[in-house]
Amino acid sequence: MEGKKMLKRIDLTRDYRRHKKEYLAAMEAVCEETAFSGGKFADQFDREFAAFCGVPYAAGVNNGTSALHCAMLALGIGAGDEVIVPANTYIATAWGVTYTGAVPVFVDCTEDTWEIDPDKIEEKITDKTKAILGVHLYGQPFEFNKVKAIADKHGLFVVEDCAQAHGAEYEGRLAGSLGELGCFSFYPGKNLYAFGEGGSVTCFKKEYYDAITTLKNQGCEVRYYHDVVGYNYRLEGLQGAVLSVSLKFLPEWTKRRREIGRRYLKEITNPRITMQAHPENTNPVFHLFVITVEDPADFIAYMEQKGMECNRHYPVPCHLQKAYEDLGYEKGDCPNAEYLASHCVTLPLFPEMTEEEAGMVIEACNGYEGR
Ligand SMILES: *Cc1c(COP(=O)(O)O)cnc(C)c1O
Repeated sequence: MEGKKMLKRIDLTRDYRRHKKEYLAAMEAVCEETAFSGGKFADQFDREFAAFCGVPYAAGVNNGTSALHCAMLALGIGAGDEVIVPANTYIATAWGVTYTGAVPVFVDCTEDTWEIDPDKIEEKITDKTKAILGVHLYGQPFEFNKVKAIADKHGLFVVEDCAQAHGAEYEGRLAGSLGELGCFSFYPGKNLYAFGEGGSVTCFKKEYYDAITTLKNQGCEVRYYHDVVGYNYRLEGLQGAVLSVSLKFLPEWTKRRREIGRRYLKEITNPRITMQAHPENTNPVFHLFVITVEDPADFIAYMEQKGMECNRHYPVPCHLQKAYEDLGYEKGDCPNAEYLASHCVTLPLFPEMTEEEAGMVIEACNGYEGR
């Protein structure tokens, strides 16, 4: 819009400006002690994040993709195994499986929650299936109890991809405390984010925590003695220190995300716009506010003209990504995920948005007349 600043889909500069002093002081403390890789500040954050998630253990790692990879390795998943993964997710959910040599088996999402469809899981289970990797996509918890019941019936693990769901609740239980392991990302723009890359794996069992601690640290418990093939997946000290600061702000951020998300749900009434369903037994954290419209390009151009930036999560479902061509999926295999991929748009939503800006988004949405 002429002369007026665009409202970004997400604007991290507002948080930095508001809390600059705290962030820089935390970073300085790390520099003073040169605790750069792993170390005291990373360990401190691990303890705080475990407490936040209501679990005994959190193992910080260098990003969310590594968290997923470590979770699969800790469960002993590898070549010859299969893991059930939703088709509608960010691709990294599947990478964690593929890195181990196992094969992701994609399952469609439901028509209304856009989360993994429990009714379509059983038909995909084979002798090789070891786990179901559910994703709390857009900050909305997937239907955990139904997924867990299927997993129990077939002797499978349930792992949670919580990269978009820090603080989300399912029947009063927090994301990251539901499954065998919970995998988090702290990529900038996630509900809790590092000043760079970061991730964590949460769990109840010490054996998993110990395994992941060894794996992320070049496969050694005692320095220079390598008992397993390991990885350099440690969380940086600077990231741990920044995350300890932002973890204190997370409850307030989540509250604001929920206020804005609930306002959108209530006040966007345009029949051309479809919103995600949020079942009563869940308390989502509105990481992304995704809608569907007939023509996303037309809607995005319309919003841009009104001074608001929108984008898309995600334009290609996992099963149709070129990287997974070899798995032999075809259009029509996951119709709901495919519909979503070709119709989704993400509206601006972040904690520092003002009520006035949220009102602008709502007004623009309601004024959209389509093509
Ligand atoms: C961001 C994200 C990841 C990957 O996390 P990185 O920290 O970017 O590696 C995995 N799964 C989902 C659902 C995500 O949104």
